[in-house]
Amino acid sequence: MKTVKLNNDVDMPILGFGVYQIEDQTECERAVLDAFEVGYRLIDTASAYRNETAVGNAIKASNVKREEMFITTKLWIKDTGYENTLRAFDKSLEKLQLDYLDLYLIHQPFNDVYGSWRAMEKLYKEGRIKAIGVSNFQMDRLIDLMVYNEIPPAVNQIEIHPFHQRFDDVDYMKVNGVQAEAWAPFAEGKNNLFENDIISSLASKYQKTVAQVVLRSLIQREIVVIPKSSKRVRMAENFDVFDFEISESDMDLLKEIDKKESSFFSHRDPEIVKWMSGFVRD
Ligand code: NAP
Repeated sequence: MKTVKLNNDVDMPILGFGVYQIEDQTECERAVLDAFEVGYRLIDTASAYRNETAVGNAIKASNVKREEMFITTKLWIKDTGYENTLRAFDKSLEKLQLDYLDLYLIHQPFNDVYGSWRAMEKLYKEGRIKAIGVSNFQMDRLIDLMVYNEIPPAVNQIEIHPFHQRFDDVDYMKVNGVQAEAWAPFAEGKNNLFENDIISSLASKYQKTVAQVVLRSLIQREIVVIPKSSKRVRMAENFDVFDFEISESDMDLLKEIDKKESSFFSHRDPEIVKWMSGFVRD
């Protein structure tokens, strides 16, 4: 598996498996076991996905060695703050049945993220987390966190896909040593992504599928991708993206699809901030 080197020298697989919206415990456990068998080593979960226990069961049941895995989970908004974060981290680790985590992310840029960051710095220094980072941080929030703390975020997991390509943000993060990780690389199928004419024409040209062209285009930009599928055949399809190269002119063609806006919502919309504060999950 191709990896990227994070700003603290940790190697992170460039392709992983996301488990958002696989809330059924049996289905999630089976999906993660399938993903391991297909070859995935990076698993991306979150306390808000309510499936850390299922992921933990799959980790335990799998034949893959722990040191070959790269496990990410995320801290939810209600758990921010120094003490809360220490508690939430222990809870996540217990559910995942792990004694260390590879990557811990602040899920959203809201509430007491400073207190959380200091707790995460402590856990990182103790060796309980290999790398710490954030998610959904706009560039101003990212830099603000970075310049007023000791340890810079290693990763920012943000929405990136063909309709929201974010070249400026990815470049800015690169300059500042923060690895970009794309959530919803298929935009969850919105805007008829899987039937898109331009991507379909490239898929025919390279004799690959739309999904493979999308993932490959992100990987060629050195962005970590974490596609989700509950179907093993698609997991294998999404994993098979290292035997072709999209030309520079075709990468330029893909830029024509960019709508330069979220396909979901803006983290800067005050009504979204308010809505998320009520989104409590245990
Ligand atoms: P996604 O990966 O963009 O899309 C998943 C959808 O695509 C599912 O409906 C899946 O259906 C379908 N699909 C997958 N592979 C396919 C293929 N080869 N051909 C056709 N359809 C295919 O969406 P996502 O799950 O939201 O994002 C991926 C991961 O990013 C999540 O699982 C999560 O780990 C992370 N994430 C993070 C945040 C955040 O705030 N940090 C937000 C969203 C997501 P089937 O399952 O039926 O195959």
